[in-house]
Amino acid sequence: METLYLVIPCYNEEEMLPITAKALVEKMGTLIEEQKIAPDSKVMLVDDGSKDSTWDIIEKLHASIPLFTGVKLSRNKGHQNALLAGLMTAKDYADIIVSMDADLQDDINAIDGFLEKRAEGCDIVYGVRSSREKDTAFKRGTAQGYYKLLEKMGVEITYNHADYRLMSKRAVEALAEFKEVNLFLRGLVPMVGFKSDVVTYVRAERQAGESKYPLKKMLMFAIEGITSLSVKPIRFITAIGAGVLAISFILFICFIVHLFTGTARGNWAILFSVWMFSGLILTSLGVVGEYIGKIYLETKERPKFIIEKNLEEEQGE
Ligand code: UDP
Ligand code: MG
Repeated sequence: METLYLVIPCYNEEEMLPITAKALVEKMGTLIEEQKIAPDSKVMLVDDGSKDSTWDIIEKLHASIPLFTGVKLSRNKGHQNALLAGLMTAKDYADIIVSMDADLQDDINAIDGFLEKRAEGCDIVYGVRSSREKDTAFKRGTAQGYYKLLEKMGVEITYNHADYRLMSKRAVEALAEFKEVNLFLRGLVPMVGFKSDVVTYVRAERQAGESKYPLKKMLMFAIEGITSLSVKPIRFITAIGAGVLAISFILFICFIVHLFTGTARGNWAILFSVWMFSGLILTSLGVVGEYIGKIYLETKERPKFIIEKNLEEEQGE
């Protein structure tokens, strides 16, 4: 039997945590009873620099129920970094790790399916939402369009999979070798390889508290996904540049012809080309800048997270 660690990033989740904890005590209890996971399996709650009482709740849970353990980040680093912090900490204690959100939107009963696939020899099992009925029409529409766009950009990604997945210890260890700072985990995990499969589940509504992903964060995350995994935008710009160059060559010939026939009416043409080229140059600069910004960050090799406290270690002392 393998030891399972459930890794859950939590940011200002004081309303949700007690509900989630109760559900997980039951679920993990059943899984242990049914001998699907080892009795020393745990739930690792990662506090992503919450401003409310989230960490107090985690500490209390840890003190009263041995099932719970926690990691506290020194400040808010965002969902992806918090999740990575949890994965990297849990891999030292666990054989298999399941990552999920604190809000129970992902059906915890899908874990049984994950474990079945694991028993069949999978190292990675992706949780895939069979429907998004409970999401707002806006979120559903933008998300689906976005997955299509990612595919066009050549990014390998599992459709409708967020960060609810099972990974084996060696898969997480392999993930640790990815040194990049700009994190888009659901795009990185498929690069790890190993035998993988999917389990579908119905996504539920958030039961308490608000979404910690406001539109601005979602947009930044979406841009991150493309620019950290694909260089196609740059190639697209290059292609446009080549096309424009070809057109300008034709215009140059026209210019020469008009020079000798003396019928040039170039005012509007000049105005329009000045605007067009300014626009083109500015957009190109923007896209190039986006990548240079990333190179800049990567060369710094900043730590992606700093762990302030690790309840798991304190226990061992
Ligand atoms: N989260 C986090 N740090 C952040 C924002 C969110 O750790 O800066 C966590 C949050 O507590 C939750 C998960 O990431 O467990 C997903 O967030 P949420 O459910 O609000 O996103 P949504 O489901 O609306 O996309
Ligand atoms: Mg949610």
